[in-house]
Amino acid sequence: VSSLEPREDHRICVCVRKRPLNQRETTMKDLDVITIPSDNVVMVHESKQKVDLTRYLENQTFCFDHAFDDTASNELVYQFTAQPLVESIFRKGMATCFAYGQTGSGKTHTMGGAFSGREQDCSKGIYALVAQDVFLLLKTTAYEKLDLKVYGTFFEIYGGKVYDLLNWKKKLQVLEDGNQQIQVVGLQEQEVCSVEDVLNLVELGNSCRTSGQTSVNAHSSRSHAVFQIILKSRGKLHGKFSLVDLAGNERGADTAKANRKRQLEGAEINKSLLALKECIRALGQNKSHTPFRASKLTQVLRDSFIGQNSSTCMIATISPGMASCENTLNTLRYANRVKEL
Ligand code: ADP
Ligand code: MG
Repeated sequence: VSSLEPREDHRICVCVRKRPLNQRETTMKDLDVITIPSDNVVMVHESKQKVDLTRYLENQTFCFDHAFDDTASNELVYQFTAQPLVESIFRKGMATCFAYGQTGSGKTHTMGGAFSGREQDCSKGIYALVAQDVFLLLKTTAYEKLDLKVYGTFFEIYGGKVYDLLNWKKKLQVLEDGNQQIQVVGLQEQEVCSVEDVLNLVELGNSCRTSGQTSVNAHSSRSHAVFQIILKSRGKLHGKFSLVDLAGNERGADTAKANRKRQLEGAEINKSLLALKECIRALGQNKSHTPFRASKLTQVLRDSFIGQNSSTCMIATISPGMASCENTLNTLRYANRVKEL
């Protein structure tokens, strides 16, 4: 299975995924302004106005490691993003996969956080697909003898605080010891023995995430959700795969009318997304200094940004509509900066 081979030369992979126009956009006669002319190019056809009020299209082109159009399945996206990193955690590696983009652009659909993946009409997301390959590799002759156990954690970062989604949203402390090791004190690590077990954890975490919230999306779009698959050998950490469904990156007009609470949330999200970009860039440039302390998100993911055995992929999700153009361009510019060395 060649796509499971780790690529030691390539520690950062940045991809873009466009979702289809949805019912609401179609009803409102929103136009699809995104084209994917080849498997690594994204074009945005932005509608602009001249001084004489005539309209014209301004085309902007972006290149990535891969670009997926609205016909791509979760499986296809997985094959080019998280799957090549799975085997690295058996080799004591730290892998991470981020879904980045505007609220409603498809982050949770891609990661598979909203549904268990068991429904007939719902394809598996990246959580389930990673778990599937982890349990496959676990039984291969190469890794069987390592006597590894698999654990899952699921937590949320909101307003710079960490909440355990496997323990009734218990608020957890993040501590740094003398050796700069970061610990989320008391985080539940549940042993999992099958894909089914993993899906149950995801379901439990999601129900915890949304309980007591009037609107599921209103809440989840303001927080980062981190799902981790951890390998341990005789009780000691062996490797870890962190799958991160980031908070929505929209800002500006969308939040201008927002109340103070919303503004503070927005500021916190901006801070963490900026810190994330800098940490991934530092990883790609093999810099000795990683500014992981700049946010809680990067702090708890410190392991993933340091060391020779860390690799990262980012899936930037975009909405196709003209109404989302500004946010889409922001997403593409951010993703571009992440991969740029
Ligand atoms: P986000 O997590 O970024 O806020 P969601 O993943 O919740 O966005 O997606 C918003 C809506 O769009 C959901 O109803 C989801 O099922 C749908 N959707 C997102 N991406 C796709 C896709 N690639 N194909 C089909 N439907 C999608
Ligand atoms: Mg979501």
